[in-house]
Amino acid sequence: MSKSYDLIVIGAGSIGVPVAMEFAKNKLSVLVIDAMPSPGQGEDKKAIGGIRASHSDKGKIRVCQRSIEIFSGWDELYGADICWRDNGYSFPAYTEEHETLLKDLLRIQHDFGLTIQWLSPEEYRELNPGIRMDGLRGSTYSPGDGSASPLLFTQSCYFKAMGYGAEFRFNERVVGFSIENSRISVVKTNKNHYRSACVLNASGASAREVSQMAGIDIPVEPDSHEAGISEPVEPCMGPMVVDMRQGPGSKNFYFYQNSEGQVVFCLTPDPLTWGKDCRATSGFLPMIARRMITIMPKLANLRVRRTWRGLYPMTPDGFPIVGRMREPDNLYQAVGMCGQGFMLGPGMAEVIYRVVTEDYHEDDTEILENFNPYRDFKGQEVFK
Ligand SMILES: Cc1cc2nc3c(=O)[nH]c(=O)nc-3n(C[C@H](O)[C@H](O)[C@H](O)COP(=O)(O)OP(=O)(O)OC[C@H]3O[C@@H](n4cnc5c(N)ncnc54)[C@H](O)[C@@H]3O)c2cc1C
Repeated sequence: MSKSYDLIVIGAGSIGVPVAMEFAKNKLSVLVIDAMPSPGQGEDKKAIGGIRASHSDKGKIRVCQRSIEIFSGWDELYGADICWRDNGYSFPAYTEEHETLLKDLLRIQHDFGLTIQWLSPEEYRELNPGIRMDGLRGSTYSPGDGSASPLLFTQSCYFKAMGYGAEFRFNERVVGFSIENSRISVVKTNKNHYRSACVLNASGASAREVSQMAGIDIPVEPDSHEAGISEPVEPCMGPMVVDMRQGPGSKNFYFYQNSEGQVVFCLTPDPLTWGKDCRATSGFLPMIARRMITIMPKLANLRVRRTWRGLYPMTPDGFPIVGRMREPDNLYQAVGMCGQGFMLGPGMAEVIYRVVTEDYHEDDTEILENFNPYRDFKGQEVFK
C-alpha cells in the first residue's frame, strides 16, 4: 500500500471513466476500482445512447451542453468513431396538457440558449415521415441533441484515460473504508488496501451501499427499465421520438434510429419496478411493439435483435447528487444520475474536477445548486 493517489474513483461507468480521463489529463494521479471485469459493465452499457441538453434546469442543461460538445467533437479530436449522430430529439404532443407543458418549458429552455423549436404537425412529419398524424398537435424539435454508442464512447475514453496515466483495477470490489480524523485514510477492497487524498463515489446503482460504508445515507434507489435494438434498416427516421403519453403498463417511451440504421427503444414501466432485478421480462416487447406501431405504423415489420433490462440510479427529485461530503470530508459524490448518466458523463467529469480542485467556473454555483448532496430533495425535475 505504498503508493497514494490524488483521487480514487469507485466505479468505472458512465461517470467514473470520463472522470478518470479528466483528472489524468490534468496530471493528477487517479485510480479507478470496479467490481466488474472491464469498464462500462454496470449500467453504462445498458444506456440506449440518447444525448440531449433539453432538460428543465440550468445544471443539467449546462452539463449536457458541454457533453454534446465533447461527444460531437470526439472523432475529430481523438480519431475514434463513437457513432455520434446529430439526429436531435423531439417530444410530439398528442394532448393539450403536453402541448402546454412543452411550450411553457420552451421559454425556460430558450433562456438557457437552447435552440429548441415548436413544429406544426406538418413540419414535424417532414422530419419523421410516417408519424401518426391523428390528434398530433405539434412537436418540439431540438436539433442540437443527438446520440452515440455508450460501448464505443466508454471504451475509447478508458483507453484515453490510461494513455494519460490513469490506473484501473477490475474484478475488485470496494468493501469498506478506514476513517481517521473525519477523513477516509484507506479504501479497502476484497483484494487490497489503497490510500488517496480524495475518494469519489461513482458506483451508480450501488451508491447507497458504498456511502453507507462511510456512515452516510444518500437517497439513491435503483429502478429497472427495459430496452431493445432492431436489425439495421435504411435511414427512415429523423430525431429521437419521446412519446410522453401513458399507456397500459407504461409511462413514456422513446426510440430513435442510430448511425448504423438500427432502431433503439426504451420504455418506462408503470408502475415503476424498484430493485436490482435485471432479468428481461416477457411483457416488455409486446408492450413496446404495440406502442411503437401505434405512433409510427411503418415500423410494423422491423425485426428485433435483442432486448435487455438495466437500472436507473434514481434520486427522489430526479437530480444527480454531486459534491463534497461534510464528513468524511475527502469523500465526494457523483451519483444518482437517473436515466441520464451517459449524456451527463463527459460534462459532469469536468464539473467534478472543478469541485475537487476547488477551481470553480463563474456559473458553477448555479449549476451545482440542484445537485447539492444536502438539499431537501423536495423539488422535481420535469424531464427526469
Ligand atoms: C434501459 C436503459 C436505457 C438508458 N438510456 C440512457 C440514455 O439513452 N442516455 C443516458 O444518458 N442514460 C441512459 N440510461 C441511464 C444510464 O445508463 C445511467 O444513468 C448511467 O449508466 C449511470 O452511470 P454511473 O456511472 O452512475 O453508473 P454505472 O455506469 O453503472 O457505473 C457504476 C460502476 O460502479 C461499479 N461498482 C458498484 N459498486 C462497486 C463497489 N462496491 N466496488 C467497486 N465497483 C463498484 C459497478 O460495477 C459499475 O461499473 C439508461 C439506462 C437504462 C437501464
